[in-house]
Amino acid sequence: MEKVIKKIICANWKMNPLTLKEAEKLVNDIAKNITTIKKTEIAVCPPFLYLEKLRKISKKIIIGAQDAFPGDVGAFTGEVSAEMLYLLGTKYVILGHSERRALGETNDDVNKKIKASIASGLYPILCVGERTRDESHDYFNLIKTQLEVCLSGISKNSTAKIIVAYEPIWAISTTPDRRDATADDSREMAVFIRKNLFDKFGKDATQIRVLYGGSVNEKTAGDFLENGGVDGLLVGQASLDAKKFSTIIKTCEALNK
Ligand code: PEP
Repeated sequence: MEKVIKKIICANWKMNPLTLKEAEKLVNDIAKNITTIKKTEIAVCPPFLYLEKLRKISKKIIIGAQDAFPGDVGAFTGEVSAEMLYLLGTKYVILGHSERRALGETNDDVNKKIKASIASGLYPILCVGERTRDESHDYFNLIKTQLEVCLSGISKNSTAKIIVAYEPIWAISTTPDRRDATADDSREMAVFIRKNLFDKFGKDATQIRVLYGGSVNEKTAGDFLENGGVDGLLVGQASLDAKKFSTIIKTCEALNK
């Protein structure tokens, strides 16, 4: 029997909110709204310092981090290791987000972080995405390279732990002069990503969930989930509003009937 891939709605809170109190309220409010959710996996990735408190609020809300440094302990001022995050009860870790790449993170850095995260027991959410698109369609090569380098040396045995999130930078809510991506844009790239993953991992690639992220809100989530060719969504801005984020989760659940 074919394995059913569970859809996932994942919040990327970025460097928000300002206080632990607000963070706890947000998770508590989401938790109250999702008591009937059974088929959809829900993850929230807050800033590091909220992880420990938030993970205890609801069994239905899985906690993820937004970065991880390779290794366990050592002389790396300011860093938080994959092993520390795992031991704290963190499951997911967003890696290679465009906002970290903008600070200088390379595909090789992301590759090291993915390897360390898997070795520590974390489930990486690898973000890929192009800054711009043009007529030459060169962005396909960029995504191919991101996948190739970031997943280099990862074995087929780890595919069930990996998620790939397609996040076109031009569609992210905070990008100046941003424009909307469509479900067609998402589907086209999801097919391309799955083809590349299949070329690398063979049929084990079907275990890798592919997500879309970039200004998804409670109004557009249904279209991306229904027509975007993806197994879930990575949500930034809209995930900081408990009502909007819960509506996105409920939309996913309703489509999963
Ligand atoms: C993100 O940057 O990961 C993201 C999904 O942001 P937004 O939804 O705010 O565009």
